[in-house]
Amino acid sequence: MRTNVLGIMNALDLAMRLQARVLQASTSEVYGDPIQHPQREAYWGNVNPIGPRACYDEGKRCAETLCFDYFRQYGLRIKVARIFNTYGPRMQFDDGRVVSNFVLQALRAEPLTLYGDGSQTRAFCYVDDTVEGLMRLMHSDDGFNGPVNLGNPQECSMLELAARIIAECDSTSCVVSKPLPQDDPRQRMPDISLAQKALGWAPVVALEEGLRLTVADFRKRLFVGDAAEQKPAGLKVGCLSENA
Ligand code: UDP
Repeated sequence: MRTNVLGIMNALDLAMRLQARVLQASTSEVYGDPIQHPQREAYWGNVNPIGPRACYDEGKRCAETLCFDYFRQYGLRIKVARIFNTYGPRMQFDDGRVVSNFVLQALRAEPLTLYGDGSQTRAFCYVDDTVEGLMRLMHSDDGFNGPVNLGNPQECSMLELAARIIAECDSTSCVVSKPLPQDDPRQRMPDISLAQKALGWAPVVALEEGLRLTVADFRKRLFVGDAAEQKPAGLKVGCLSENA
């Protein structure tokens, strides 16, 4: 909560001094466990303010509020993007997110940890598409502040994701069921008509292609030495992350 709120306040104050524009990397989490589907920017969301996810959800919501307060009160130029589940090469191995967990588990022939029954959905956006959307947003007219959804409206259940990743990795892994975390959103998919209209943007990398590129990158980082033999490096999760 402090990172989200004090962080954006520092950035906004600095931008005031420098007359700079501010990009707020907001999130689909501001919609919480959404009752409206797909999610449009006009939807106010459904967030539990005291649950274990609240520090992120409410922190990001408060950060959006601060951006718009600075815009209204001081005329600061702000741009707010609501990013939906980005994935791709160079993700940190130990970030705990579903794509990195499943890909690592599949490549190591370990069971994939499916939380709940796997019917919950997300819409995954390939990193290059997200970056292109953010660049377009920053280059848009000063009159356009957002918030704008940036995501790929290709909805996928976690069970389907597990099957896709097992197939892409040519893995012998099975799936094990683990408890569903509290307040885990049941469904999520962006309506991107605003981004299409205001930024001329839409994602171009389908999930199948994005997973192929992601698995290739994870394979390269996980298995060192003779690539043909594909021997595990024997290091703990995260040790080979380029960011580590
Ligand atoms: N998830 C899962 N297994 C994992 C990690 C996550 O089944 O090893 C589920 C998680 O419960 C959620 C979905 O995958 O329903 C996406 O989780 P992630 O943390 O990647 O993104 P977020 O929930 O923040 O959108």
